Amino acid sequence: MTETRTDNRSRHESGRITRVLLDEERLHARVRELGAEIARDYAGRDPVVVCLLKGGIYFTVDLTRAIDLPVTLEFVRARSYVGTDSTGRVELAWIDGLDIAGRHVLLVEDIVDTGLTLIEIWHALEARSPASLALCALLYKEKLLAHPFPIRYIGFAIEDVFVVGYGLDYDERFRNLPHIAVFQPDGPSA
Ligand code: 5GP
Ligand code: MG
Repeated sequence: MTETRTDNRSRHESGRITRVLLDEERLHARVRELGAEIARDYAGRDPVVVCLLKGGIYFTVDLTRAIDLPVTLEFVRARSYVGTDSTGRVELAWIDGLDIAGRHVLLVEDIVDTGLTLIEIWHALEARSPASLALCALLYKEKLLAHPFPIRYIGFAIEDVFVVGYGLDYDERFRNLPHIAVFQPDGPSA
């Protein structure tokens, strides 16, 4: 089933999916573990889960259902990437009306790569005076971060490859794959 879906959707005009890195089963098992851990850590509180769109959407939907606590769900949109290259620029949208003063905030991200997006949004959230602020990232690329940052919950540490699926895109494609796969852009080195 997984293989068929990968085959059918693996091509893009400027590259292709080369392998599945994390299958659906592993993802869901880890998401359930994270949900249980978060529920223990936030017991007796009603945290605000801030989903960073678009990449964090599938992870957030599954994660919040695995957190057995009353949670409030909010969304912020960030864009920092065009294709597979970082533009070094981060645009935040929908953060202006976000009322998190005095609340325990858990920011949920798809992936931390350079950490630039994270720094922008972290400061923007901190400026709104939450009672506490913590980060949960599904994926973390194991390489030297240009801007190291504390990540309280990490789903998986992965190698430095470009991945798609389960929310992550390549030029807006592949977000709806049920697994995380490696995408290889065509080019001189491919
Ligand atoms: P950072 O600011 O940490 O360099 O990058 C964060 C954002 O870049 C992520 O939220 C994601 O949108 C995008 N990004 C970083 N690495 C990858 C990757 O391997 N695949 C995809 N699809 N997006 C990535
Ligand atoms: Mg993207």
